[in-house]
Amino acid sequence: MPLLYELLDYNKTFVENEEYKTYVSAKSPKKKMVLVSCMDTRLTEMSFKSLGLKNGDIKHIQNAGAVISHPYGSTVRSILVAVYMLGVEEVVIMGHHDCGFGALKPEPMIKEMKKRGIPDNTFEVLEHSKIDIKSWLKGFESVEDSVKESVRKVYEHPLFDNSVPVHGLVIDPENGKVDLVVDGYEN
Ligand SMILES: [Zn+2]
Repeated sequence: MPLLYELLDYNKTFVENEEYKTYVSAKSPKKKMVLVSCMDTRLTEMSFKSLGLKNGDIKHIQNAGAVISHPYGSTVRSILVAVYMLGVEEVVIMGHHDCGFGALKPEPMIKEMKKRGIPDNTFEVLEHSKIDIKSWLKGFESVEDSVKESVRKVYEHPLFDNSVPVHGLVIDPENGKVDLVVDGYEN
Protein backbone atom coordinates (compact mmCIF):
# COMPACT_ATOMS: atom_id res chain seq x y z
CA MET A 1 0.00 0.00 0.00
CA PRO A 2 1.36 3.48 -0.85
CA LEU A 3 2.60 5.36 2.20
CA LEU A 4 -0.08 8.05 2.17
CA TYR A 5 -2.93 5.51 2.13
CA GLU A 6 -1.21 3.56 4.87
CA LEU A 7 -1.16 6.73 7.01
CA LEU A 8 -4.79 7.57 6.32
CA ASP A 9 -5.79 4.01 7.05
CA TYR A 10 -4.02 4.14 10.39
CA ASN A 11 -5.71 7.45 11.13
CA LYS A 12 -9.18 5.92 10.90
CA THR A 13 -8.38 3.47 13.69
CA PHE A 14 -6.62 6.18 15.69
CA VAL A 15 -9.73 8.34 15.74
CA GLU A 16 -12.17 5.46 16.18
CA ASN A 17 -10.26 4.11 19.18
CA GLU A 18 -10.06 7.62 20.65
CA GLU A 19 -6.29 7.34 20.86
CA TYR A 20 -6.10 11.12 20.31
CA LYS A 21 -7.21 11.63 23.92
CA THR A 22 -3.62 11.02 25.12
CA TYR A 23 -2.37 13.90 22.98
CA VAL A 24 -4.98 16.59 23.37
CA SER A 25 -3.37 19.74 24.80
CA ALA A 26 -4.01 23.47 25.20
CA LYS A 27 -3.48 25.83 22.29
CA SER A 28 -1.15 28.14 24.26
CA PRO A 29 2.27 26.74 25.19
CA LYS A 30 2.68 25.87 28.89
CA LYS A 31 6.31 26.99 28.93
CA LYS A 32 5.88 30.17 26.85
CA MET A 33 8.72 29.29 24.53
CA VAL A 34 9.25 28.74 20.83
CA LEU A 35 11.92 26.27 19.70
CA VAL A 36 13.45 26.36 16.24
CA SER A 37 15.17 23.07 15.50
CA CYS A 38 16.29 21.04 12.50
CA MET A 39 14.01 18.67 10.61
CA ASP A 40 16.54 15.87 11.19
CA THR A 41 14.68 12.60 11.84
CA ARG A 42 16.86 11.85 14.85
CA LEU A 43 15.55 14.95 16.61
CA THR A 44 11.82 14.30 16.31
CA GLU A 45 11.64 13.03 19.87
CA MET A 46 15.20 13.69 21.05
CA SER A 47 14.87 17.50 20.96
CA PHE A 48 11.90 17.34 23.34
CA LYS A 49 13.03 14.51 25.61
CA SER A 50 16.54 15.91 26.06
CA LEU A 51 15.11 19.19 27.41
CA GLY A 52 12.39 17.64 29.51
CA LEU A 53 9.66 19.03 27.27
CA LYS A 54 6.28 17.43 26.82
CA ASN A 55 3.52 17.62 24.28
CA GLY A 56 1.77 21.00 24.63
CA ASP A 57 4.72 22.65 26.41
CA ILE A 58 6.09 24.82 23.61
CA LYS A 59 5.69 26.06 20.05
CA HIS A 60 7.98 24.14 17.73
CA ILE A 61 9.28 25.22 14.33
CA GLN A 62 11.41 22.87 12.29
CA ASN A 63 13.34 23.52 9.11
CA ALA A 64 16.47 22.26 7.38
CA GLY A 65 19.37 23.19 9.66
CA ALA A 66 17.38 25.26 12.20
CA VAL A 67 18.58 28.23 10.18
CA ILE A 68 17.01 31.66 9.87
CA SER A 69 17.83 32.32 6.24
CA HIS A 70 15.48 35.16 5.36
CA PRO A 71 14.20 38.01 7.55
CA TYR A 72 10.79 37.84 5.87
CA GLY A 73 10.52 34.09 5.43
CA SER A 74 8.09 31.78 7.17
CA THR A 75 10.42 30.86 10.05
CA VAL A 76 10.78 34.46 11.24
CA ARG A 77 7.09 35.02 10.67
CA SER A 78 6.31 32.01 12.86
CA ILE A 79 8.59 33.36 15.61
CA LEU A 80 6.86 36.75 15.45
CA VAL A 81 3.41 35.14 15.55
CA ALA A 82 4.49 33.05 18.56
CA VAL A 83 5.77 36.14 20.41
CA TYR A 84 3.03 38.61 19.60
CA MET A 85 -0.03 36.39 19.36
CA LEU A 86 0.62 33.14 21.21
CA GLY A 87 2.11 34.25 24.51
CA VAL A 88 5.69 33.15 23.85
CA GLU A 89 8.29 34.90 26.04
CA GLU A 90 11.52 33.14 25.02
CA VAL A 91 13.00 32.00 21.71
CA VAL A 92 15.40 29.07 21.44
CA ILE A 93 17.31 28.24 18.29
CA MET A 94 18.83 24.79 18.50
CA GLY A 95 21.21 23.50 15.84
CA HIS A 96 22.81 20.08 16.01
CA HIS A 97 26.05 18.26 15.32
CA ASP A 98 26.32 16.12 12.18
CA CYS A 99 23.64 18.19 10.44
CA GLY A 100 22.75 17.08 6.93
CA PHE A 101 21.86 20.63 5.96
CA GLY A 102 25.12 21.93 7.41
CA ALA A 103 27.05 19.62 5.11
CA LEU A 104 24.99 20.65 2.09
CA LYS A 105 26.88 21.78 -1.00
CA PRO A 106 24.82 23.46 -3.71
CA GLU A 107 26.47 21.76 -6.71
CA PRO A 108 25.35 18.14 -6.07
CA MET A 109 21.81 19.31 -5.32
CA ILE A 110 21.64 21.40 -8.49
CA LYS A 111 22.99 18.40 -10.40
CA GLU A 112 20.23 16.26 -8.91
CA MET A 113 17.59 18.85 -9.84
CA LYS A 114 18.83 18.84 -13.43
CA LYS A 115 18.87 15.05 -13.47
CA ARG A 116 15.19 15.11 -12.49
CA GLY A 117 14.32 17.41 -15.34
CA ILE A 118 14.67 20.99 -14.07
CA PRO A 119 15.85 22.76 -17.23
CA ASP A 120 19.16 24.65 -17.36
CA ASN A 121 17.42 27.85 -18.30
CA THR A 122 15.46 27.86 -15.03
CA PHE A 123 18.78 28.41 -13.25
CA GLU A 124 19.67 31.16 -15.71
CA VAL A 125 16.31 32.88 -15.15
CA LEU A 126 16.81 32.71 -11.37
CA GLU A 127 20.29 34.12 -11.74
CA HIS A 128 18.96 37.03 -13.79
CA SER A 129 16.31 37.61 -11.13
CA LYS A 130 19.18 38.06 -8.66
CA ILE A 131 18.31 34.89 -6.78
CA ASP A 132 21.56 33.43 -5.56
CA ILE A 133 20.62 29.76 -5.66
CA LYS A 134 24.13 28.65 -4.69
CA SER A 135 24.25 30.52 -1.43
CA TRP A 136 20.61 29.63 -0.73
CA LEU A 137 21.46 25.94 -0.99
CA LYS A 138 24.70 26.18 0.95
CA GLY A 139 24.98 24.66 4.43
CA PHE A 140 27.33 25.92 7.12
CA GLU A 141 30.88 25.26 8.28
CA SER A 142 30.24 25.51 12.01
CA VAL A 143 26.91 24.78 13.68
CA GLU A 144 27.83 27.10 16.59
CA ASP A 145 28.43 29.99 14.18
CA SER A 146 25.24 29.20 12.31
CA VAL A 147 23.21 29.29 15.54
CA LYS A 148 24.86 32.56 16.60
CA GLU A 149 24.11 34.06 13.20
CA SER A 150 20.44 33.01 13.39
CA VAL A 151 20.13 34.43 16.93
CA ARG A 152 21.63 37.70 15.68
CA LYS A 153 19.17 37.83 12.77
CA VAL A 154 16.20 37.50 15.14
CA TYR A 155 17.51 40.21 17.49
CA GLU A 156 18.24 42.55 14.59
CA HIS A 157 14.85 42.08 12.99
CA PRO A 158 13.05 45.44 12.92
CA LEU A 159 9.78 43.83 14.02
CA PHE A 160 11.23 41.78 16.89
CA ASP A 161 10.67 42.84 20.50
CA ASN A 162 14.25 42.89 21.80
CA SER A 163 13.21 42.41 25.41
CA VAL A 164 12.42 38.78 24.48
CA PRO A 165 15.50 36.60 25.09
CA VAL A 166 16.78 34.56 22.17
CA HIS A 167 18.94 31.61 23.19
CA GLY A 168 21.22 29.49 21.04
CA LEU A 169 21.82 25.78 21.69
CA VAL A 170 23.53 22.90 19.94
CA ILE A 171 22.40 19.32 20.50
CA ASP A 172 24.25 16.09 19.81
CA PRO A 173 21.72 13.78 18.10
CA GLU A 174 23.68 10.71 19.22
CA ASN A 175 23.45 11.24 22.98
CA GLY A 176 21.09 14.19 23.45
CA LYS A 177 23.73 16.41 25.08
CA VAL A 178 22.84 20.07 24.72
CA ASP A 179 25.47 22.85 24.81
CA LEU A 180 24.71 26.50 25.42
CA VAL A 181 25.99 28.73 22.61
CA VAL A 182 24.07 31.95 23.30
CA ASP A 183 22.50 32.82 26.65
CA GLY A 184 19.70 35.21 25.74
CA TYR A 185 19.36 36.41 29.36
CA GLU A 186 22.71 38.11 28.96
CA ASN A 187 21.60 40.15 25.97
ZN1 LIG B 1 20.09 19.03 10.67
